[in-house]
Amino acid sequence: MISKQDILRLLHRPESEHPILSVFLDTSVNSVNQRTHQVFLVKEVARHEELDSDREGHHREALGAAFERVFRWLEEEYDEANRGVAIYTEIGGDWLEAVQLPVTVRNRTAVSDRPVIGPLAQALENDHRHGIVVVDREHLRLLLVYLGATLAEHEVRTDPYPTPHDEKGGGEAAKDRQKRKAEEVRHFFKEFALEATEFDRRYHPDDLVVVGTHENVVHFVGFLPPHLQAKVAHTDHAPVHATPTELLERLTPFFRKQVETEEATAADRLRDRVVHRHLAVSGFAATLERLQEGKVDTLVMSRDLERSGAHCRRCGFFLARRDGSCPYCGGELDRRVDLVEAMIRLAEEQEIVLEFVPAEALADLDGVGALLKF
Ligand SMILES: [Zn+2]
Repeated sequence: MISKQDILRLLHRPESEHPILSVFLDTSVNSVNQRTHQVFLVKEVARHEELDSDREGHHREALGAAFERVFRWLEEEYDEANRGVAIYTEIGGDWLEAVQLPVTVRNRTAVSDRPVIGPLAQALENDHRHGIVVVDREHLRLLLVYLGATLAEHEVRTDPYPTPHDEKGGGEAAKDRQKRKAEEVRHFFKEFALEATEFDRRYHPDDLVVVGTHENVVHFVGFLPPHLQAKVAHTDHAPVHATPTELLERLTPFFRKQVETEEATAADRLRDRVVHRHLAVSGFAATLERLQEGKVDTLVMSRDLERSGAHCRRCGFFLARRDGSCPYCGGELDRRVDLVEAMIRLAEEQEIVLEFVPAEALADLDGVGALLKF
């Protein structure tokens, strides 16, 4: 399972003497149940004229050998349960590292000095680690879910007293039984609340979703400590023994809606602050400048944004404009830099919050902006 650690490891990978081929593939199945990433990859290889005379198995071109490693990895290692992959390999070396994703990424290849991490950051940043609590009067299940996969599952078993169905008796006896059952449920729910607290302490989910009948959910949430009650983002109904897949299917519309709402909020908050000139900037030039000054608190970007810019070979500053020389030191400029990737790297290095939003949400702000610390 991919994690933030994968991004950080790739981010801090020591610079290689070889250029890196980064390959991102949408490996999800289309409407006619086919995967089309191979077609994309074959077209990408065809774009490189120098590979025309290259031969499979006897590569004269290091890039040809790199692509062949990618094809081989797909054949041997790709797990079809995943919907996206990122593959990195050296051109002229033999290092290869791949990350499989339960979410799609846009098809893309890039050759650069370092592994391209932007699409991975985008796949990871907006999703939550959800704690799913499934409860009825005798059972508790706790699941940690991230990017559509179950990372941990914990079940609490109880030993309830049997409820006699055939026991004869008057109204008084029935009332007693009901009372005993209610007392037992209270006892179990207290224990369940402790278990849920321990689960939260151990796995740090971003929020909790409580699943069960309306009556059980309301009753159980009342037993949770206030900090966990505040974390309950959603409640829903599903059978207590539903499989993780069934639960996820049931909850996916909520998860999707939650991300949409948060993205809209992020875009609105940025726009509002830009309009009121309150600790915010928008557009590439201003955002890039503040980012390099270490003043950014939250970087907000359109998804799949593309922009190239420049990088000063002497002082290392990134610039949104590409003409002239470096305004800071007069140094010579490298003019074909992937500015979006540079900004995401800067944000990850500074551990800045990154929010990706739909392109139309930031169209009026040139696709990028930042909330500032000071
Ligand atoms: Zn410079």
